[in-house]
Amino acid sequence: MGRMSGTEERRLARLRNAARIKQNNLCYWCDEAMNDVHNDPLQCTGDHLFEWAKGGRTIDGNVVAACKRCNSTRSKGGIVKTVGDQTPRSPFEVLAALWPPSEDEADIAH
Ligand SMILES: [Zn+2]
Repeated sequence: MGRMSGTEERRLARLRNAARIKQNNLCYWCDEAMNDVHNDPLQCTGDHLFEWAKGGRTIDGNVVAACKRCNSTRSKGGIVKTVGDQTPRSPFEVLAALWPPSEDEADIAH
């Protein structure tokens, strides 16, 4: 897996913070309240719906706030199920509407 540039890391942090506010500090996947404790399972992280390692971009619409536990489960190829909800939230349903992004194209072409 490649590494993110510093610029992209800062953009991810910005998008994550915006998503976190929109989500009322609840993890996008499991709906648990997130914190800022380093390496805590519930630490708030920026999660790419369309995985970054597979070419997903760090842009609005592709970044959600997710707890570290859910984020790492997904990055290992696991499927994250929501708590109290029989239907796992599929990022691909979201992406059907959002992907490919029509906005910010200039911003990400580098
Ligand atoms: Zn979670």
